[in-house]
Amino acid sequence: MRTYFVRTFGCQMNKHDSERIAGMLEAQLGLATAVTPEQADVVVFNTCAVREGAEERLRGHVSSLKATKRENPDVLIAVGGCIGQRDSETLLSYLPHVDVVFGTHNIEHLPALLEAAATSRRPQIETLERGEAFASDLPSRREHPWHAWLPITVGCDNFCTYCIVPHVRGRERSRSFKNIVAEAERLVADNVVEITLLGQNVNSYGRDRYGEPRFADVLQAVAATGIRRLRFVTSHPKDLSDNTIAVMSVEPAVCRSLHLPVQSGSTRLLTAMNRRYTKEQYLALVDRLYDAMPDLSLSTDVIVGFPGETAADFAETMEVVEHCRYDQAFTFLYSPREGTPAARLTDTVPADVAQERFDRLVSAIQSSAHRKNQALIGSVQEVLIEGGSRRNSSIITGRTAGNKVVHTAAPDGVSAATLAGRFATVRIEDAQTWFLTGAIQGYERS
Ligand code: SF4
Repeated sequence: MRTYFVRTFGCQMNKHDSERIAGMLEAQLGLATAVTPEQADVVVFNTCAVREGAEERLRGHVSSLKATKRENPDVLIAVGGCIGQRDSETLLSYLPHVDVVFGTHNIEHLPALLEAAATSRRPQIETLERGEAFASDLPSRREHPWHAWLPITVGCDNFCTYCIVPHVRGRERSRSFKNIVAEAERLVADNVVEITLLGQNVNSYGRDRYGEPRFADVLQAVAATGIRRLRFVTSHPKDLSDNTIAVMSVEPAVCRSLHLPVQSGSTRLLTAMNRRYTKEQYLALVDRLYDAMPDLSLSTDVIVGFPGETAADFAETMEVVEHCRYDQAFTFLYSPREGTPAARLTDTVPADVAQERFDRLVSAIQSSAHRKNQALIGSVQEVLIEGGSRRNSSIITGRTAGNKVVHTAAPDGVSAATLAGRFATVRIEDAQTWFLTGAIQGYERS
């Protein structure tokens, strides 16, 4: 049987797209999964242009398949996602053994492009902004049967000055409300217990659909389908409404876990980043969130060393971190992305200064995360079991509604694989910075 391998880089949107790509390759081309790219007949790289060095990593991965391609010229290599979209003109010049380049809007045509490349023995390129805005009507092969990504918007209108996303994913478009709820109902019927609503900025859902429901309505309607857990990413602070906070605080299915990127604590830098909120507005929003949900688990993104960042700017970032009591943060040392306005800024922060600030920030985040986790000792948490621990097969691993990783010993005679996708109650006995440990009190039998 012919096989495929999909390698995914980047964000949750790419992970979702990869599940659709895998589903199409199975349903439309009859392919089965391969364990490694070297064993596959079709290898797809679903790329990300957000992180630094993305092209180098892609070059490394694709180049490592040169020998495979030489031995078997029928092997097909496809590159999609953000680098496919952005570099369609140049990609084949530096990776000539690629057969298909497809953009972020052309996923549904991948099987046809692969067939055309096999028949014609010529590279196929399609990066046009047309066709289905959402890949969700395509078949899917979910990584975990119990979890599904459910996109509600694609693209982004915010144009933060450091970010490449609006340039490769296009303008924001909202999916129809009816379509979202119908897919959620199908997923619940298919025994999915956790849905993550997806969008570059889910909070602005519906802005392009005059008179239609907004994000709080989507949250409420999907929660009403009977889904056990409902999450959403990503939130832009300027668009997170009080209605959404109200739904989060009363709907039991909506996890009290929120990713709210702050990026900087300095209003001056936030303006330079085109974030369109001030430090004070962000802090007031976080206060409203904790007032409504004192047990909220809060995470963020922070960029250190944005051009022009002074010691005073960074001190404000540290103040925000202290105030917000984050459970987790993704911290980034600024580096310019070609094609973004910030890449033209010249007042760069010296590398050693940025690194010293970065280290202080990481240490503050770790202390905050550790304090929040320590506060959970003695509590009983509902944990969705994901499987066995990678290091110790007698330990099972899952996540709380607050998105905390929990490790616990498997009950006697029960394997981690049996429990995967089921809920257990776990009494928390110890807390580290990034995980909790505890004793299992009970678990769902089926
Ligand atoms: S909100 Fe800003 S950072 Fe997020 S995807 Fe849009 S432009 Fe990029």
